[in-house]
Amino acid sequence: MSEPILGIDLGTTNSEVAIIQDGKPRVIEEDGDPILPSFVGLSEDGKLLVGKAARNQWVVAPERTIRSIKRKMGQDVKVTLGDQEYRPQEISAMILRGLKDRAAALLGTTVKKAVITVPAYFNDDQRNATREAGELAGLEVVRILNEPTAASLTYDPKNTELHRILVYDLGGGTFDVSIVQAQEGVIEVLSSHGDTQLGGDDFDELLFKHVVLKFQSEHGIDLSANVVSRARVLRAVENAKKELSYHPFVRLEEEFIAEKDGQALHLQMEIDRNDYEELIRPLLNRTMDCVQRALEDAKLAPSSLDKVVLVGGSTRTPLVSRLLEERLGQPAHQEVNPDLCVAMGAAIQAALIAGDDVGAVLVDITPHTLGIRCLDYMHGIDFPFRFAPIVRRNTPLPTSRSEMFATVADSQKEVEIEVYQGEHDDVRFNHKLGNFRITGLAQVPAGNQLTVQCDLNLDGILKVTAREKATGLQKNVTIENALSRFEGAEITEARDRLDRLWEQSASPDAADLEEEGEEYENDFAEDDDGMPELVPAPREGQRETVQARALLEKAERLLEKVPPEDKVELERMLKAVRNAVTDRQWDVVTKACNELSDVLFYLEDA
Ligand code: AMP
Repeated sequence: MSEPILGIDLGTTNSEVAIIQDGKPRVIEEDGDPILPSFVGLSEDGKLLVGKAARNQWVVAPERTIRSIKRKMGQDVKVTLGDQEYRPQEISAMILRGLKDRAAALLGTTVKKAVITVPAYFNDDQRNATREAGELAGLEVVRILNEPTAASLTYDPKNTELHRILVYDLGGGTFDVSIVQAQEGVIEVLSSHGDTQLGGDDFDELLFKHVVLKFQSEHGIDLSANVVSRARVLRAVENAKKELSYHPFVRLEEEFIAEKDGQALHLQMEIDRNDYEELIRPLLNRTMDCVQRALEDAKLAPSSLDKVVLVGGSTRTPLVSRLLEERLGQPAHQEVNPDLCVAMGAAIQAALIAGDDVGAVLVDITPHTLGIRCLDYMHGIDFPFRFAPIVRRNTPLPTSRSEMFATVADSQKEVEIEVYQGEHDDVRFNHKLGNFRITGLAQVPAGNQLTVQCDLNLDGILKVTAREKATGLQKNVTIENALSRFEGAEITEARDRLDRLWEQSASPDAADLEEEGEEYENDFAEDDDGMPELVPAPREGQRETVQARALLEKAERLLEKVPPEDKVELERMLKAVRNAVTDRQWDVVTKACNELSDVLFYLEDA
């Protein structure tokens, strides 16, 4: 084994260090935590603090704490810490020292070399400052590596064939998107765009304002006016935001948050994922514009991308994957932990430089989507076979996810929950795993909300729980081997079935599917064809987006083939559809889609 070379992600908010062990990247932990917050500070008695300790004192002692130093790298400025002034690279060197010591403690030897990552948009001054920081920390920087390149290496370290990957990186304070092209071991960044002032911290701030305003309208007290209550609410909303990545709503519970007329006030508030998504959507739309610009600069259509990879903690927000999938027409990958991906990629690059053999990062994931059957309204008629995903394919294990549903009838006492595995919108093409009934629901009008939660562990044991939101009434079922049932031949069979259906009808409507579904028998048993008693909690614009995506894909394929005068017109129409989707103007989307559809009809025929 050659001399160890560290892979270091020197981030704005957090940093990590990784090495290759037994041919696989491993991020080095300290006290069980792989992340070293990129904070440097001085304690009250003048001791240097790096990482968590410095971050913890930031709220109470900002004058003795430095954060986000990465933003100043390459600038001719100084920052003050205690009674001393430091250049940005000196502060970064302290963070690098912390990471180097972490690695030395694990390896039991000193380490002298490192690969350090930087954003693709860093200029020469910023890269040189990073190199200098490494040297100040006693490290020979064998390579300065672009962050998106590092991320792409974790998915495909050998990259022999031509491969284009879009890397979408949304962290705590910054956003960037890059398109990298890999071929025969050479990786090139084709384009890169971003916003250095956009990230998860902004989401926290929006949620914070939402909570503070609501509390003020209920109790007449401004929680942002007091340092302690402000810090408590900020911490609570960040936790709530993370919860909302996995569950449809969350309850904020902070006791004794304020006082009024001698009475203690508690913060008790429910936050719905839909409301949260509406708050952050304008910010995410800005990131989608950058995605579009990166594609335009690289002169690529979305369909030319081989993979979309997510990096940065904030990409766990489900709306990020949803918007990307709508825009790019393919699912985004986040199997490799988005917080640790860049450090692992840097370690892979270090091993490649040292000539060591190294494989892709392997993680346990769910190979198929898991969800339930419900009723939907499609093409103007009831469609009783809608598959509503709860755990998406390629989600790392173990996992716990839930989604919200609603009853369809007034005074509905019970609901049958049918659990399926597969990728098709129609449950009849998926594999049934089991079912159970929840009874004794409250006697209320239709629309009674139920959450359905899937907990899946590494051994493939799936627990599905249905819970009535208003009362907490719940029932569950446990299914063994939920990871392995739908395999090889079954997938081929289901796909063939689908192909046959597709051939018969370019855009099958529900009636066709129903007929064909009866013809091709699958797991659909006799007792299954009663009407489902649940609908998905509605998401505005879902149908319009699906229609727009299908048309955009078709139009992009045609773009290359049409005469130049039609191409300009087609591009204008594509833009109109995309803008309308981004602005969530559903009437405009429908109108723009109808126009585009007419033109496509004419062009396809020509
Ligand atoms: P990074 O800068 O890549 O370390 O990302 C940190 C950001 O990711 C912070 O704003 C976190 O609050 C955010 N984050 C971490 N976990 C989640 C999650 N489960 N859902 C949404 N945001 C998250």
